[in-house]
Amino acid sequence: MGVVWLSEVGKDDVPIVGGKGANLGELYRNEIPVPNGFIVDGRTFIDFIERTGIKDKIISILEGLDVEDTDELMKASQKVRELIESTPIPEDIIEEIKKAYRQLCEEEGEEVYVAVRSSATAEDLPDASFAGQQETYLNIKGEDKVVEYVRKCWSSLYTPRAIYYRVRQGFRHEDVSIAVVVQKMVNSEKSGVMFSSHPVTGEPVVIIEAVWGLGEAIVSGMVSPDHYEFDRVSRKITKVQVAKKEKAIVREGDETKVIDLPPEKAEARVLSDDEIIKLAELAELIEEHYGKPQDIEWAIEKGKIYIVQSRPITTIKGKKEEKEEVESEEEAEVLVKGLGASPGIGVGKVKIILSEKEIGRVEEGDVLVTTMTTPDMVPAMRRASAIVTDEGGMTCHAAIVSRELGVPAVVGTGNATKVLKDGMLVTVDGDKGVVYKGAIKKEKKEEEKVVTAAAPIITATEVKVNISIPDAAEKAAATGADGVGLFRIEHMVLGLKKHPMKYIHDGEVDEYIEELYKGMLRVVKAFYPKPVWIRTLDAPTDEFRTMEGGEDEPVEANPMLGFRGIRRDLKEQEHFRAEMRAIKKLIDEGYTNIGIMLPLITRPEEVREAKRIAIEEGIPLDKIEFGIMVETPAAALIIEDIIKEGIDFISFGTNDLTQYTIAVDRNNENVAYLYDETHPAVMKLIERVIKICKENGVKTSICGQAGSYPHVVAKLVELGIDSVSANIDAVQRVRETVARVEKKIMLEKLRKL
Ligand code: PEP
Ligand code: MG
Repeated sequence: MGVVWLSEVGKDDVPIVGGKGANLGELYRNEIPVPNGFIVDGRTFIDFIERTGIKDKIISILEGLDVEDTDELMKASQKVRELIESTPIPEDIIEEIKKAYRQLCEEEGEEVYVAVRSSATAEDLPDASFAGQQETYLNIKGEDKVVEYVRKCWSSLYTPRAIYYRVRQGFRHEDVSIAVVVQKMVNSEKSGVMFSSHPVTGEPVVIIEAVWGLGEAIVSGMVSPDHYEFDRVSRKITKVQVAKKEKAIVREGDETKVIDLPPEKAEARVLSDDEIIKLAELAELIEEHYGKPQDIEWAIEKGKIYIVQSRPITTIKGKKEEKEEVESEEEAEVLVKGLGASPGIGVGKVKIILSEKEIGRVEEGDVLVTTMTTPDMVPAMRRASAIVTDEGGMTCHAAIVSRELGVPAVVGTGNATKVLKDGMLVTVDGDKGVVYKGAIKKEKKEEEKVVTAAAPIITATEVKVNISIPDAAEKAAATGADGVGLFRIEHMVLGLKKHPMKYIHDGEVDEYIEELYKGMLRVVKAFYPKPVWIRTLDAPTDEFRTMEGGEDEPVEANPMLGFRGIRRDLKEQEHFRAEMRAIKKLIDEGYTNIGIMLPLITRPEEVREAKRIAIEEGIPLDKIEFGIMVETPAAALIIEDIIKEGIDFISFGTNDLTQYTIAVDRNNENVAYLYDETHPAVMKLIERVIKICKENGVKTSICGQAGSYPHVVAKLVELGIDSVSANIDAVQRVRETVARVEKKIMLEKLRKL
């Protein structure tokens, strides 16, 4: 067991210091000036729990835990964490940590602020899988505090989120440990970002942006930075653009503050020629080290340069490698084709399921093939290695739920239940939308994840996540999304034992409210204090007919144009009022991180009426947000009148907006080839709404499937949308797109100066 210094570890030490620790050590070794620090290695934590005898207790608390039962999960997590945080740490371990901190302070010439970061470890397993699962604490000072926060990192190995993640991913708790990186915090007088090569063309030009104070000022978009370019071939500085930097973010004690800069400083050039050259040389060194162009964050404190973070640039055109190389795909026989609705590859035996009653036949790793999935099939969908359906488009039940469960899916094949036979071994490609005969060997070229410090990408445009089943709440929260931009409650309601109106007719409205409350609670709790926009019930008659008590649903020729959305909520007010009561209960408990979002709005009167009911049910509209979905051309074309009713936000439901604008049924595989969310007519409506909302101070967002497509998101960020909400699997990709587009916008603005 012990403490090791960054200079003493490298890439081979992942098993004892975790990926983060090993990566930092590797950079340090290669003379890349990361802030100095030490690592309390993974063996120390094991030593602590073994010597104090709490290891067995932890194992027994977690044994047989049902992680799907949130209360049980929370309780187990709390018990383990209390155990870790209250059991005295053996003196020799404490002394070793304190000694290392004292040495760090001595080397730095003062008592330093440190960042205390978790770096989870697992024998023979890459750390990347745990990234972001455990805690990081910033601005810690003093030897007792350092020990206290090392212990907090240890205990964060058992947050509900981390326990859930390990169980769902099949890791044994006994196989993981946690190392803790204690690293000096840089209190920079200047800082910024740089690209080691041109971020779009890949040319050998280092591009540097710089501001006074801490780098958050650039990342948050608060300050326009200076812009410098260094040509790596001619070895010359080719561009110096000095911006007016009126503000700076600085650290005072353990707080960060925004300060105004005097005009002389605001207009002064941040970097000298010498500093530009030194930074450019470091950028080249880091690119060389990783073998890929890098996007780097740097800081200068007391004249010394530090590299705070580095990650590969993913935007360079023409250099993108295919992530998956298919070896024998060409020879493989294509059995059926459809829409790639949930990414990934699944290999397994076909199980054809024609009704919910048969779901017991689906075993772990089977490929579930059905006409269309239903909420009752969710447990079997979870067990499946892939899902294939005859019917449906990109936003059908199978598509939405598979994405949330992380199971590859191909929908709308037309004939999978006929062509595929029970027991057949198949490979399902959820990206391409193809089902092949046999097991196809796919070579995975894992993209290297190179992040020196675990700071997430911060974007000015918020990146949120969509949720349909409360079970996915913790997984969705683990993406680090800025909130939930759409909680579709109908999937949860469809999963209840009976139709909402049946609860009401049976005099069991309180039971219905309780069910709604429980599901909503799981989501708002997982995200608290980040906002969760709960959409009121959008219940199409055809989907709700299959529920117990759903026999009375009218049979409609065009359910998509029928009795659904807000028009239904206002007609069948009882279930709408039940939703309001469930939401009120949450607000009364302090969960004010809620937004109410109305579906399928076409007229101002609908908003007025819904608001009146919400107020009647005691919803404090001053405490939470209230908004609408823009998913009909009507709403888009009269948005100014709807805004007059008083709304805080709108969110584009492009799934419906597209079908209603270009007359293409979103669930009809026969016309799926015409379905296009970027059709100029749809884009025109979106552009109009963003512009008018901006003029009126109403926030804009998107939660339709198109919000998960980088090419659409890029356009929306350019149009000035305030947030985008993506599917769980797309959050990271979308975040990267948003960051890239935002940077591009800033660069373009600078170039015009
Ligand atoms: C939409 O229409 O884009 C949307 C998000 O709502 P749903 O897919 O639930 O109709
Ligand atoms: Mg919709």
